[in-house]
Amino acid sequence: MLASGSSGNAALLATENTRILVDAGLSMRELRKRLASIGESLDDIDAILITHEHADHVSGLAILARNKAVRATIYMTRLTAPAIDWGPAPPARLEAFQAGASFQIGDIEVQSFGIPHDAIDPVGYCFKAQGVRVGVATDLGYVPESIKFHLRRTNVLLLEANHDLDMLKVGPYPWSVKQRVMSRVGHLSNMHMSDYLMQDLDSCTADLILGHISEQNNHPAIVQMVAAEALQLRSLETRLSLAAQHTPSTVFQY
Ligand SMILES: [Zn+2]
Ligand SMILES: [Zn+2]
Repeated sequence: MLASGSSGNAALLATENTRILVDAGLSMRELRKRLASIGESLDDIDAILITHEHADHVSGLAILARNKAVRATIYMTRLTAPAIDWGPAPPARLEAFQAGASFQIGDIEVQSFGIPHDAIDPVGYCFKAQGVRVGVATDLGYVPESIKFHLRRTNVLLLEANHDLDMLKVGPYPWSVKQRVMSRVGHLSNMHMSDYLMQDLDSCTADLILGHISEQNNHPAIVQMVAAEALQLRSLETRLSLAAQHTPSTVFQY
């Protein structure tokens, strides 16, 4: 995880042969810096997969797309592409897909799935390579059955733990924004995250990464406590990590 939260999102997923960046919500400079900190280079990325057009997921994208040294193909849903401010022209190496489509990038199988969020055509992703499955589901108001289905048998799961309901209610956001965040097309609360862990998390999930944690309406200590409690109730040995906004996480290796 290079960054996770409402000020910017990006994650790297790599095998020996293929490198995928999920979202480009950091400036190119910051992305280069964070990739370098784990020994990677932006110029070696094969594909950039976008989840949706909100600024915290695409703010660096238009600049990246115009950079000659960056050779990555950009993937996003057909309806998302026109919603992005590309500047002079959309990039030549753009692959638009139908939400729900699956496709192959190098030796990584990609499955996209629609998520309930107030963007034009938002998606989450499931990746499979060398028998390891990785799920990415952030920016979702709740976890519908369809997503539970897609997240089954994931070994590594990035799940949203956006806000603590009480903190959100008394927090600094205007009421209209609070309503948006809480809605079924907003963001996943600690409570919804905990419900998912208690009822649906697959026991084969070795690493659970909680992300998109609000800096105003949540606290890492609360997320940690709520999640640890849920995992304990299920007697799961799942390792728990929190993805941060300002520093890259450790590298999860399989
Ligand atoms: Zn977001
Ligand atoms: Zn969003």
